Amino acid sequence: MKTDIQPVFTVYLNHIQSNYQVLKTKVAPARITAVVKDNAYGLGATHVVQTLYPTCSEFFVAYASEGAQIRPFAPSASIYILQGIGTDDLKAVKENHLIPVLSSLEDITWWNNLGITDIQPALQIDTGLNRLGIRPADLQLLTPEQRQNICLFMSHLACPDTPTHPMNTYQRDVFEECRKMFPHIPVSLSASGGTLLGSKYTYDLVRIGALLYGITYPKSNDLPLKSVLNIQATILQTVSINAGESVSYGATFTANHPMKIAIVSIGYGDGLFVSLSNKGRFWSNGRSLPILGRVCMDSTICDITNAPDLRPGDLIDVLNEIYTPDDMALDAGTSAYEILSRFGKGIRFIRNYKK
Ligand SMILES: *Cc1c(COP(=O)(O)O)cnc(C)c1O
Repeated sequence: MKTDIQPVFTVYLNHIQSNYQVLKTKVAPARITAVVKDNAYGLGATHVVQTLYPTCSEFFVAYASEGAQIRPFAPSASIYILQGIGTDDLKAVKENHLIPVLSSLEDITWWNNLGITDIQPALQIDTGLNRLGIRPADLQLLTPEQRQNICLFMSHLACPDTPTHPMNTYQRDVFEECRKMFPHIPVSLSASGGTLLGSKYTYDLVRIGALLYGITYPKSNDLPLKSVLNIQATILQTVSINAGESVSYGATFTANHPMKIAIVSIGYGDGLFVSLSNKGRFWSNGRSLPILGRVCMDSTICDITNAPDLRPGDLIDVLNEIYTPDDMALDAGTSAYEILSRFGKGIRFIRNYKK
């Protein structure tokens, strides 16, 4: 009989540690900080923080609640809150000594009026992404005191996955111009992609998520970075079908020859993209097992005609070192970030952490 039949999510914390060391050497003398928002891209923020701290003592999250969650695991780290904060967050900010990243004149004025003296906020400017950030033209509205009273001056690139994109040099030029108004304040422009654009982009610190977690960028293959996530699922049943039989909801796949198929215990309820229907594949010992028909909530069907040894109870790979989140993202029509984030929300996985 089968033992565990729920899907299995294994995070190689040792590989995250190793990726951190590789990147640390690569970006020196700039400092590398770890971005652990969205539960460290679904991998488990408290585990990742425990792995990297105290070698890494600067972390970025999106919300104050995420900062409060990791604080016990990184008692003296700097924890930055990328999305900024609301009045409801003030208690958590003060208790956990969190650093808000402020992105508008209103935010800055509001923060200054709070009279919190033991926390210096960070300031984000928008250099072209047009997401969060104070516009360069508005910087001159800040008083000299407001300009001096921040701990980090930062911005974020729009197109670092395309090294030749003119946005990269454009944003860097805008950033260079603006930082002149903030002498002696540490500055940061790049996340994973920008970090690989060269030393002109690394400044005082880089904010790294993707590369730590095995997501690739142009040029990242030159570095010995490791994949960090393995997902497996159990074969619940195998079936032999005849030519002309269809598979799964909507009968979107029809066999044109006799086939052996396997019903596998993972579905969109676990974060597997429905867009992988008839497109993605599972793996067993280097053999690709194409997904047949529509991905269901709890299960997905794959072709095991070329892997006839597979039996109910066997585990197959959904993600591994040869079929990475980047490979799956290509099949699913999304990004590796979204692949990790979605699986990360799966609450039915048996989670293992390798140290
Ligand atoms: C998410 C995020 C990062 C990390 O990006 P990666 O590409 O995963 O390294 C850095 N900075 C900001 C502002 C972000 O929103």
